[in-house]
Amino acid sequence: MLEALFDYIEASPSPYHAAAVAAERLRTAGLAEARRSDDWGELDLTAGFAVRDGGTVVAARAGARVDPDRLRFIVIGAHTDSPNLRLRPVPDADALGYQQLGVEIYGGVLLNSWLDRDLGLSGRIVVRDGTGDSPATVLWRCDRALMRVPQLAIHLDRDVNDGLKLDRQQHMTPVWGLGEPSADGFREFLAADLDVEPDAVLAWDVMAHDLTPPARLGRHGEMYAAARIDNLASCHAAIEALAGLEAVPANTAAVVVLFDHEEIGSDSATGAGSPILADALERIAHSLGGDREQYLRAVARSLCVSADGAHAVHPNYPERHEPAHVPVLNGGPVIKTNANVRYATDARTHARFAVACDAAGVPHQVYSHRGNLPCGSTIGPITASRLGMSVVDVGSPQLSMHSARELGGSDDPAMLTAALGVFLANG
Ligand code: ZN
Repeated sequence: MLEALFDYIEASPSPYHAAAVAAERLRTAGLAEARRSDDWGELDLTAGFAVRDGGTVVAARAGARVDPDRLRFIVIGAHTDSPNLRLRPVPDADALGYQQLGVEIYGGVLLNSWLDRDLGLSGRIVVRDGTGDSPATVLWRCDRALMRVPQLAIHLDRDVNDGLKLDRQQHMTPVWGLGEPSADGFREFLAADLDVEPDAVLAWDVMAHDLTPPARLGRHGEMYAAARIDNLASCHAAIEALAGLEAVPANTAAVVVLFDHEEIGSDSATGAGSPILADALERIAHSLGGDREQYLRAVARSLCVSADGAHAVHPNYPERHEPAHVPVLNGGPVIKTNANVRYATDARTHARFAVACDAAGVPHQVYSHRGNLPCGSTIGPITASRLGMSVVDVGSPQLSMHSARELGGSDDPAMLTAALGVFLANG
């Protein structure tokens, strides 16, 4: 399972890649590829289908027998995006003989973790199609050591170890060449790489990724280090749980949704704040013969697992944790709770996920945030409030969340996948 996760992380430097690879994995498991604009009434829901839109995927499989009066959804939600550096639309800059690429900070980046790393670029490019007027969107990646954000030498910043201060506009601009830049250097580079004319490159959503591959780590390989563990580890577990599901129970639609834009608050056309999941569920209910009343009744019987990274206790910062809630690496999935509903778990959904872990034969842990620190959030509360659906927030424990390279436990991916598999099969 860990090697398969490594492959997924390496194949997914951007959310667009993460969604495309997930959809392709589901296609090999027998689910059809569909579009939001298709007529879903034509789909065979028993075989299942996956719909991809940008960095978001919705996939579903239904039981062989569904009575619309007894329909329920079992949903697993996760997110494909990770904090990183994203190229501006006019990125070319020069200073003092260097060529640089202007970037914006996407999400809650641990800025220091991006210093002195050899970075590649990836994303989606919109190019003018030579044959017609509608432009084509292509996935693109460059895994050469293309650029780097060089840290200032300690001799020029003697106080740096008393507190590194990084200005998001001034200090995070990567270098990617020497000498005078041409005004359109990045566009020309992209055009050459895509083998098109520079004026055929119309626009891009491009971001940086660390080139270091995932690796087992530790004396016995009991940990692993990789980029984007938050939240590709949950995406991978969710997709494998759906792909590996032998049979969906009667009167059930098993749904996986991987959203883009969680790290920036989920308000976008393909984020958890959009109607994309609610619309998909209602259309699935229709395809299974249900009307709106039956759909709304189905939602009331349904359950969603929001799977996202959880904070393992940090050995060097024990004072940052609630002493009675200290998840450990390789301790199994973490059920996350918060009285102010930064996590959507309640006692009933908590219990149901705990039972699923028991049935899967994996241990589980519980997280509650320290009272004097603001708590993060997930797609869980957004999904709960958009749909009026019961949600449990869970995730594998990890360290270094939002670093360019995070740290997890080597046994946790298989345990999360097993628990999600039981959850999809039983609810
Ligand atoms: Zn996350």
